[in-house]
Parts: sequence; C-alpha cells; structure tokens
Amino acid sequence: MHELSMANSMVEAILDTAKKNDAISVTEAVLEVGELTMLNPEQLRFMMDVLIKDTIMEDADIIINMIPIEIECEKCGFKGISETDENMDHLMAVATCPKCDSTRVHVIQGQECNIKTIKIEREDENA
Ligand SMILES: [Zn+2]
Repeated sequence: MHELSMANSMVEAILDTAKKNDAISVTEAVLEVGELTMLNPEQLRFMMDVLIKDTIMEDADIIINMIPIEIECEKCGFKGISETDENMDHLMAVATCPKCDSTRVHVIQGQECNIKTIKIEREDENA
C-alpha cells in the first residue's frame, strides 16, 4: 500500500535522524506532503501512529502539511495552483492546467514528501 510504505520510510528516517542526534525521545515531527503524491494524510498519520509504537517517537506529535500543486503550463503559460481530480485513480495522479486543461505542465511543487523538522529531547536536557 502506498501510504504504508511511505509511512514506514518516514518513520525510519525520523528515528535515524533522532539517533544520530542522541535523542532519547522525539516530541514532534513536521512532514510536508505534496498533493500530487496522492497520499491520504489521515491514512498516513494512522499508519505512522501504528509504526511508532514502542519507539522513542511514540509520543511525538505528527504534523502533516499538505503542499498544494503549483504548475507552469507549457501550452498557455499559466503559472499557479492546480488541482488534481479527486475522482481520479489514485495511482495515476496527473497535474493539469486549470486554464487550458493541458497536461503538458511543469510541476513546480506538489510532488514532495519530506520531513521538514523534528523536535527531540536529549538526555542532558531532561536531567
Ligand atoms: Zn495552460
């Protein structure tokens, strides 16, 4: 499943970063997910909640920021926010130009799936 593999790699990356920084716990993780990834933020959050059980990020607040799709149309030159069709097959996400419906668009943002920031606690801070 799309969300599960993404949730898994996100959690692994967060835990990896936390370990490298000698964290004893992760208190917050802010994620950026582009709408073009077609990830469902609720499903993503749910799966991450399951995956973080019994890890140092068990009690972390997971904040998922959805990034709108911004495109530049190669046909009419429109530059701005586009939207994907919600009824579209989720594995076939395509950005289209809202002005001329062309799919020959350059995607400026909306494809990302990043960990933006994490907040951790170190042992010495907790003493
Ligand atoms: Zn256009």
